[in-house]
Amino acid sequence: MATGTIKQAKFILDLVDQYGYRDSPFKDYFLKRINFDYLDVIRASELIDWLLKLNKQKKFPKRRYFDHQKTPIVQELAQYVFCPVSYSIKKTFILENTEDEMPIDDVEPRESYLLKRIKSLKTPIENVLKNPQINDKVKMYYKKIIENQFHDFKPFIESKLIFDGYAFPKEYILYNSEYNIKGRPHLVFEDSSGVRTAVIEKVSYKKTIPDIVWLNNRIQALSYVYLFGKLNCSKASIFYWGWENEGVWDTDRKYRVYHLDKTDFHRELFRNYLNDFLKFIKESKMTFNSSTINPEKCYKCSCRTLCDHKSGLSRGLTLPYIS
Ligand code: SF4
Repeated sequence: MATGTIKQAKFILDLVDQYGYRDSPFKDYFLKRINFDYLDVIRASELIDWLLKLNKQKKFPKRRYFDHQKTPIVQELAQYVFCPVSYSIKKTFILENTEDEMPIDDVEPRESYLLKRIKSLKTPIENVLKNPQINDKVKMYYKKIIENQFHDFKPFIESKLIFDGYAFPKEYILYNSEYNIKGRPHLVFEDSSGVRTAVIEKVSYKKTIPDIVWLNNRIQALSYVYLFGKLNCSKASIFYWGWENEGVWDTDRKYRVYHLDKTDFHRELFRNYLNDFLKFIKESKMTFNSSTINPEKCYKCSCRTLCDHKSGLSRGLTLPYIS
C-alpha cells in the first residue's frame, strides 16, 4: 500500500469507528463488506466520501413528530419483529435513503404481481399458445412454465377476490379495538367452499428468492388471520417476488409462495410478539436482546446509519429512539 493510501486507510478506520462500530464484534464484517482489503487511492477516496456522508446523517438526523397516541399499524408490528431497534428508529427519524444497497426490511410491491400473474395464466392460450407469430419452441417453453405454475396459482385463479388492499393504498381500514391496532392485507380470496385466505406480497432485494419465510412476514400475514374477525380468514399466503422480471412475459418473474394455517403454534407465536410489541409501546422502553443481531441483516438494514445497537454493545432501547 502506498503511503497516501495507508493514511486514507487509517482515516477510513476512524470513520468506521465514528459510524458506530468502535469496539464492536461486528466491525470486521462491515470492513469486509465495504472491501476494505482492496484499497487503491480512488476506492479509498470513494469510501471516505461515502462514510463522511453517512456520519453526517448520523450526527444530524431529521426527527419526525412522535405521537404517542397514534394507533399502531400491522406493518409496524412486522417492523418490530424484524428488529425492535429499527421500529423505534423509524418512528423517531425520517430516513434518508442514500445507501447503495437495497434495504431488506421494508420492500412491498406497489402493484399486485399476483393479480398480474393470475391474469396472464388465465389467458395463456390467447397470449402465447395461439399466437401465430410465436414459434413452436417458444410455445413449448411457455406451455411448460404455465403447467408448472398452474399448481401454485390454481387455488387463487379458482377463488374470488373479495378484498383488494391496493385499491386503498393509504387507508388502514381494518381496526381491532381489543388491541388498538389497524391494518390492511394486500389481498383476500374466498374459495368455493367459503374458506378465505389473506395474501401479502413482498419483493426480494436479491436475485434469489428467500427459501425460508421471514419471521416478520409470517407475523404480518398471521395478523390478518388473528386480528381482524371481519375478514374471516383462516389461512394466509406469502408471495415473494423477484426484483426484476426475468423475461418479457408476466409469467417470467421468479416467485416463491408459502402458506400458513390457523394452528395453536401460530396463534401463540403471534400473540407473544403482539404482546411484546404493545408492551414496548406502552412502556416506551425495553431491553434489547443483542444476541439476536446478525451483522448481515444489519448491513442491509435501512436504519443502519442511525442505529447505535448494530455494534451489539447496547442493551437499553427507548421509544422514541435515543442512541
Ligand atoms: S442495524 Fe441491525 S440492530 Fe440496528 S436496526 Fe437494523 S437490524 Fe436492528
